[in-house]
Amino acid sequence: MNPFKADLHCHSTCSDGDTSPVELLKMAVDAGLSGLSITDHDTIAAYRTAIPKAKELNLKLLPGVEFSSVNKQTPVHILGYAFHEESKMISDFCERHFERRQERNKEILELLSKHAIFLTEADLQKEHSGTPGRPHIALAMMRKGYVKTLKEAFTKYIGDHKPCYAQGPRFSVEETIEVIHRAGGLAVIAHPDQIKSSKTVKDLLSMGFDGIEVYYARNDPNSQHKWLQACQNRGWFTTGGSDYHGSIKPNNPIGCSWIGEETFQHLYIHYINNHATLH
Ligand code: AMP
Ligand code: ZN
Ligand code: FE
Ligand code: FE
Repeated sequence: MNPFKADLHCHSTCSDGDTSPVELLKMAVDAGLSGLSITDHDTIAAYRTAIPKAKELNLKLLPGVEFSSVNKQTPVHILGYAFHEESKMISDFCERHFERRQERNKEILELLSKHAIFLTEADLQKEHSGTPGRPHIALAMMRKGYVKTLKEAFTKYIGDHKPCYAQGPRFSVEETIEVIHRAGGLAVIAHPDQIKSSKTVKDLLSMGFDGIEVYYARNDPNSQHKWLQACQNRGWFTTGGSDYHGSIKPNNPIGCSWIGEETFQHLYIHYINNHATLH
């Protein structure tokens, strides 16, 4: 029998992954995983089809989401887990994020046009079936021949701090944590190594999080130890996951980072208790 492994970070076609929620679950089983959380950017739409399929496959599925937020202008990704999948707090917040993204993407298209890159909202719609993100803008740029690779689109135009990047409306880290908590969920700092500002890290570590994503596809072992200690000092959860997206992040196969049974059960029991209270 395989040891228990759960991947708590992956994306589906409901945001910028290229694998449908149902296919993701099948891939997880094939990769020998016993537990999974689908953490799409700013949406929980995957759970409509994923919950019944997970039951059929006997895979433990923990509700999750990856919210985009900012701390004093710096982008911070926050993972929310174990909330009730029908929580109105979460679905309303996802709706506000959808509107934020529409507005933000319009600003990016406007900036691109100043660099003689002409894309319409209809061009973007061809690239996604769920929440629209920057990778979809990059794919549209590729399709129309403005760039050769996704990487080129990000490094020349739409990556953070690049000339055609716009943040649009924002939600603070504090507000995001509050929404997750009011929905009965747990708030986790995603891929902490991607936060380059030590001031931001210091701010985040003094906030009301419940955990850190210590085990992540490209975290180096030294920093892993540092995050582990930060969790131990605060009594926080240590979570982990691959950040699987499919072909847009080919170096992150599903299950390449994971957590064991004990942590998963703590989170899962939190979810089950939430279910019992809200139903
Ligand atoms: P968004 O949430 O719409 O701002 O888009 C963020 C997504 O774009 C992330 O999930 C990343 O996978 C992707 N992304 C961000 N920066 C880069 C980059 N420099 N190269 C490739 N992909 C990137
Ligand atoms: Zn993504
Ligand atoms: Fe992220
Ligand atoms: Fe992610």
